[in-house]
Amino acid sequence: MTDLRELYQEFIVENAKSPKNFGPLPSATHHADGTNPLCGDKVTLHLELDGDKIKDARFEGCGCAISTASASILTESVKGKTPCEAETLFDEFQQSLTNDAHQPNLDLLGNIQVLLGVKEYPMRVKCATLVWHTMRAALKNSAAPVTTE
Ligand code: ZN
Repeated sequence: MTDLRELYQEFIVENAKSPKNFGPLPSATHHADGTNPLCGDKVTLHLELDGDKIKDARFEGCGCAISTASASILTESVKGKTPCEAETLFDEFQQSLTNDAHQPNLDLLGNIQVLLGVKEYPMRVKCATLVWHTMRAALKNSAAPVTTE
């Protein structure tokens, strides 16, 4: 278990240090901004929808290691998915983080499961879910900025 935890931590640190899909996305069709005032995390998510598929996803902003790693993993995870599938992924992630009775579906979560360790730290849960809330707003093309507060 400890080994696994260390592995997870390494993966998070790696994604935080050199995040994937970081930067602007000129072809984006959907955007949203999110902030987590509690920690100071800020994220702007860009999505490019092609038909009913998320063709590309990139993000900008600055935040703590957890929020940056989460955004990096999200952008990797939602590519090629439909908005509905991305929502399902978010629901599963959120349930796994906040509902003790819920048995996480690790097959569905894939790499996202490395972030489940933040469950023990309620403040960190907001860092991990910020970009997901932002994705939900982006898919709705909601102009209102997202905040975890
Ligand atoms: Zn944070």
